[in-house]
Amino acid sequence: VSDVVVIGGGVIGLASAWRAAVAGAEVTVCDPEPCMAASWAAAGMLAPVTESRAGSPALTALGVASLHAWADFARQLEEFSGCPVGLRTEGTLAIAFDAADRRALEHLAGIHRQLGLTSRPLTGGECRQAEPLLSHQVTGGLDVPGDHQVDNRLVVAALQSACAKAGVSMVPTRAASVEAGGTGVRRVVLEDGAAVDAGAVVLAAGCWSGRIVLPPSAPRPPVRPVKGQIMRLRAPAGSVPARIVRGLARGVSVYLVPRESGQVVVGGTVEEQGFDTSVTAGAVFEMLRAATEVVPATAGMTVEDVIARLRPATPDDGPIIGPSPVAGLIYATGHHRNGVLMTPLTAAAVAGCLAGEAVAEVVAPFGWERFAGP
Ligand SMILES: Cc1cc2nc3c(=O)[nH]c(=O)nc-3n(C[C@H](O)[C@H](O)[C@H](O)COP(=O)(O)OP(=O)(O)OC[C@H]3O[C@@H](n4cnc5c(N)ncnc54)[C@H](O)[C@@H]3O)c2cc1C
Repeated sequence: VSDVVVIGGGVIGLASAWRAAVAGAEVTVCDPEPCMAASWAAAGMLAPVTESRAGSPALTALGVASLHAWADFARQLEEFSGCPVGLRTEGTLAIAFDAADRRALEHLAGIHRQLGLTSRPLTGGECRQAEPLLSHQVTGGLDVPGDHQVDNRLVVAALQSACAKAGVSMVPTRAASVEAGGTGVRRVVLEDGAAVDAGAVVLAAGCWSGRIVLPPSAPRPPVRPVKGQIMRLRAPAGSVPARIVRGLARGVSVYLVPRESGQVVVGGTVEEQGFDTSVTAGAVFEMLRAATEVVPATAGMTVEDVIARLRPATPDDGPIIGPSPVAGLIYATGHHRNGVLMTPLTAAAVAGCLAGEAVAEVVAPFGWERFAGP
């Protein structure tokens, strides 16, 4: 018997499991390969400002609120687990090469003004002053001092350690279905036919969340995979950018995220390819071409890791967080490009739901109800 079964051991499932266990629940996470999916691939950017889009103020507000929650979350996770999470707060430099790239940045700056977010236009020279490794062909940019990063691979390691310390049980088997009785969820049936009894279930299976059979009155979350290819390079001393550099290199979107260790994460593609996770020559070529254009020293870095993983995306790009129509079944999925950013608030919302509380105002627009209807 388990108080809470969490389906999926990515950053969202593990953070929810840790918070629930610390609040006193007996928690089981089922996942045959915890932490190896999108949460392993991500760049770890905490970037609600550079990721803001016109027409999505509620999503930006959720991202900004979660970014503010990260400082406390990181401190508590590091203290509890004894593991670092690599939170860095130097901010982000968004750059542009040609006139079309600059127009895209001006548009982004306009969204920032509308939403009251902080960013400051820079000339090409000012960009190079801020980041001497930048190419001389960078012609303009935006200083975004509030967009930060964590090392997502350190975060998932810390969460695994925190879950172990909090007494969370890990079951290395996929969930097949969630069953309910008269009063709500009753158990999770695993793919090997075994079942784990549950007073509550958290559905946090990333882009696979729609594949788990739910009780008839619970809608399957409309989550689809969006493929992202991403690389990890190692830079020689003196070739590591001082902060996150991202933007458009003649229309190609690219980011370089420097880690304390000297690793530089370069990414990432955004592809509608179903459940395909192959690494393609064309994507690697494009990422390296764009990264080398932005920071020419990229050419001298060594390639350590190239992978493709799947972002869990919904029709409106916002996550699905909160209670389902079946008592005890809670959704925590669909975080698309910003799951690492949104981890602290999602885990807090899940813990609140488990305690019978309403979700916070900033999370409330992201219930399943918005996708209900014909
Ligand atoms: C290339 C790339 C770059 C990214 N960069 C960033 C970034 O800079 N910042 C940011 O905030 N976000 C970023 N993201 C997005 C972020 O990685 C995701 O939003 C986040 O990791 C989602 O976490 P998750 O726990 O929901 O899903 P996942 O990490 O995908 O985990 C889902 C888990 O569910 C398990 N599972 C699946 N089916 C079942 C089942 N039936 N039973 C049990 N378990 C199951 C899987 O094994 C997996 O471990 C990026 C993603 C990619 C791919």
